[in-house]
Amino acid sequence: MAERIGFVGLGIMGKPMAKNLLKAGYSLTVYDIVGEPVEELVTDGAARASSNKEVAANSDKIFTMLPDSADSEIAILGPEGVLEGAASGSIIIDMSSIAPLVSKKIAAECAQKGVEMLDAPVSGGEPGAINAALAIMVGGKQEVFDGCFDLLKTMGSNVVLTGDIGAGGVTKLANQIIVAANIEALSEALVLAQKAGVDPEKVFNAIRGGLAGSAVMEAKGPMMLDRNFTAGFRIRLHQKDLRNVLQTGQELNVPLPVTALIQQMLGALINEGESEADHAAILHFLEGMAKVEVKRGG
Ligand code: NAD
Repeated sequence: MAERIGFVGLGIMGKPMAKNLLKAGYSLTVYDIVGEPVEELVTDGAARASSNKEVAANSDKIFTMLPDSADSEIAILGPEGVLEGAASGSIIIDMSSIAPLVSKKIAAECAQKGVEMLDAPVSGGEPGAINAALAIMVGGKQEVFDGCFDLLKTMGSNVVLTGDIGAGGVTKLANQIIVAANIEALSEALVLAQKAGVDPEKVFNAIRGGLAGSAVMEAKGPMMLDRNFTAGFRIRLHQKDLRNVLQTGQELNVPLPVTALIQQMLGALINEGESEADHAAILHFLEGMAKVEVKRGG
């Protein structure tokens, strides 16, 4: 019998990822607490479930793509949740970016019912999700990973097992430190250029091919110059990721001074009503302090 796949959480990332599973020919059952993306997936050929439990009851492997640790806990372990419907031998693959300790806790509860789990957060943003070009960092048992590899490859170009359950999350936290620091540094650089009267677009074009160039600069530089802060990756989600980074650092006695600073900036931006803006809006924090607005032409 063909493998039956479930998908829970059809937001910015989950919706295009689920579509790629459909395109690859998998039979898919979906659910989200919001109706609209479910309708869209059903139009594309997915089966509709009325709860997370029902998704699991109709699936051998169940993907979840939810905002935060508490959401994964509720959707998987809560009433009408994935675990209630999951049969022994099925596999839950949580692709949400959540705290590694929470992944371990969820996996331990799943194991009591004979259900395996991988934590498999992603990087690459909405374009990566649409183009099946995500970097997928996975924690869990080697044999479970091997059994899910082909499925994961329908959503990502780079799928790597980095260790036991929770290791995917730790890898994602490392990724988020680097992305946040890059966006913050790019913001400082463009604000400085602007205030110095040098066209920030020319600065961007002059340095993008050198050592300062990066995938972050290529993705976020044009957004800053266009004054386009439509998410992409929401400020509130990056603040959540850096909170998880700092909590993990605290548990392990690892000082993370730059991450802590940027996490405070993200908090301030949320107070300014920018919670749903793209994380490129870190620029606004630096612009606010310098009293200048970055724009093409200087
Ligand atoms: P989103 O807020 O757009 O989507 C989350 C979806 O989960 C929503 O549709 C919501 O209705 C649904 N949901 C919430 N609780 C639910 C529940 N109990 N049952 C069923 N559905 C539920 O978020 P997103 O941008 O798609 O991000 C998802 C995860 O991926 C986050 O952990 C985020 O940090 C991570 N991530 C996002 C990006 C990005 O660029 N957006 C990139 C990499 C990783």
